Amino acid sequence: MAGCLALVVGAGRGARFGGELPKQYHTLAGRAVLRHSLETFLAHPGVDAVCAVINMDDRDLYDQAVAGLTLLEPTGGGDARQDSVRLGLESLVEYAPDHVLIHDAARPFIDAETISRVIDALGQHGAAIPAMSVNDTLKRGENGIITQTIDRTGLWRAQTPQGFAFPEILAAHRHFAGRELTDDAALAEAAGMEVALVHGSEDNVKVTTQNDLARASVHLAPPREFRNGTGFDVHRFAAGDHVMLCGVKIPHEFGLSGHSDADVGLHALTDAILGAIAAGDIGTHFPPSDNRWKGAESHVFLRHANELAKAQGAEITSLDVTLICETPKISPHREAMRSRIADILGIKIGRVSVKGTTTERLGFTGRKEGIAAQALATIALPGPSSASK
Ligand code: MG
Repeated sequence: MAGCLALVVGAGRGARFGGELPKQYHTLAGRAVLRHSLETFLAHPGVDAVCAVINMDDRDLYDQAVAGLTLLEPTGGGDARQDSVRLGLESLVEYAPDHVLIHDAARPFIDAETISRVIDALGQHGAAIPAMSVNDTLKRGENGIITQTIDRTGLWRAQTPQGFAFPEILAAHRHFAGRELTDDAALAEAAGMEVALVHGSEDNVKVTTQNDLARASVHLAPPREFRNGTGFDVHRFAAGDHVMLCGVKIPHEFGLSGHSDADVGLHALTDAILGAIAAGDIGTHFPPSDNRWKGAESHVFLRHANELAKAQGAEITSLDVTLICETPKISPHREAMRSRIADILGIKIGRVSVKGTTTERLGFTGRKEGIAAQALATIALPGPSSASK
């Protein structure tokens, strides 16, 4: 196999990271840190095959992390990173590649464009690395005091993947085995190879500490915008033997009058969701003048509001309904109501709150003339605030 192979080095135990689990096996957006870069190399058209260098004590963790990926058999690493890379290169000798890209598993955000720039540069140079220019002023200090300001002109921060002509970098690693150099380019330089600089990526950061991982998780979380909507509704008591409240049938000395089943709780909730997506009110979508909705079960209205919200990509993050009445008592039915609402909307019950209160016998609810309900809906829409309508 000629061509270009990628060697992803993740054999370290991450002393600076701490904890039992090596950092490359921590989960980042649902996938192991190591898996992120492996997938990016596998998907790149300029890379023919991908091999990981791991600590063989972590073989089970590795197998779980890469389940379903088509990779070369992993190589066991050594004590120091440089040993791990050399052992990895030795394991690729049988494939006789033209080029190899050596990448740190702790850089999960490597992108296809950066990989392409490195590969392109290998067309003209024996070695190429991605790097970023140094923009901050550099100081040398001793005991907390500056001793020198360093000219940053021509200074670069090295990243990976670092690309090399395979036979040359293998020879350099063999030659300098045991000598501590901080990256593979340093070996190439020491061996007299010309190493080209290509533009890296500000996102191609190295995850070194737990803090880096937490920041990386935020970086990967899709941006969301939260919106609220409120709803309010009243229905009058009338002759009857039950009321429908939040989708639950409750035996009562009166019924509630209304065009539909008069479920004041679901009506307030429906308006709250419509409010959160700025889609009018329940009367806009289900006019009382339309006989189709006569006697309708109100879960139909709530489902419709939910469908409209979903069509905008919205996710309901919380609902809070307050039923205002002297009778019936709400608390015995609270759990059934929460469960019914969660069921209608297909969301977790933990996102649904139902509360009951009285008005201390004041006003129309206090005189038991009817029931009022208010509701608050909070939804999450995809995209940053500035990008959405
Ligand atoms: Mg109503």
